[in-house]
Amino acid sequence: MTTCKIDYQAPADLLQGRNILVTGAGDGIGRAAALTFARHGATVILLGRTIAKLEKVYDAIEAAGGPQPAIFPLNFEGATLKDYHDMAETIDREFGRLDGLLHNAGLLGRLTPFEQYNPELWEQVMQVNLNGPIWMTQALLPALKYSADASIVFTSSSVGRRGRAYWGAYAVSKFATEGFMEVLADELEHLGNVRVNSLNPGATRTQMRKQAYPGELPESLRTPEEIMPTYLWLMGPESRGHNGEQFDAQPPRS
Ligand code: NDP
Repeated sequence: MTTCKIDYQAPADLLQGRNILVTGAGDGIGRAAALTFARHGATVILLGRTIAKLEKVYDAIEAAGGPQPAIFPLNFEGATLKDYHDMAETIDREFGRLDGLLHNAGLLGRLTPFEQYNPELWEQVMQVNLNGPIWMTQALLPALKYSADASIVFTSSSVGRRGRAYWGAYAVSKFATEGFMEVLADELEHLGNVRVNSLNPGATRTQMRKQAYPGELPESLRTPEEIMPTYLWLMGPESRGHNGEQFDAQPPRS
């Protein structure tokens, strides 16, 4: 059973005083999430691999009068455990705690029959979509535990809930993400102050979607901005008590 909160109307100050890290914050859904969270009062830590894109998001947040964000350049492909621990130290020093962690960065890889799947590309997709985020989460757990009300959200996909031909490493990484979400949610349940859930954005108008479905009309898709209600709900206090659950950011397409 999944839940969708597309009609959620977030109060303007929903995320006031919260520190939220968004991965892949320079483009697509991550960019919209960072801007939306900041508009609702959050101090956003923008993580991504292309600094110029992160700087544009930073400037947009400042221009809109949002809380001053921070930029954390990181490429999941080459990142080491030390990078994650250095990041955790910086967050500890600069912010003292983390109230939200949106795992959003993702790599599609190639849609191709498994027989032709390139093993190096497979590793790359697993690194960016699964292993990197897992070790980053481990490093950030102390900062999350300091929060009175922390929310970890893993981005899934419909092919992470039901396998589909040709989706290879991308689908497998999303299935594993769902599994890890459940393991971590169960482990942290007793704490009561850190919840862990997964969120499937659904078909959304971004570069990744265009790469996966080049023939599709972009106008037929919801924009990243339109799917933000569920993101806001999951990052805000109203989702407290929901742990280990699957969410959808939009109703399934007919
Ligand atoms: P985009 O391709 O538009 O954005 C992906 C983001 O991830 C970019 O900011 C990109 O950075 C970043 N990223 C990619 N590789 C790395 C890396 N090695 N290290 C750090 N950051 C990286 O995709 P979407 O916005 O569409 O996707 C966001 C999430 O939603 C993904 O997890 C995706 O799997 C999921 N999703 C999307 C759907 C859709 O229809 N759009 C449907 C289902 C799930 P840069 O801009 O620098 O390349």
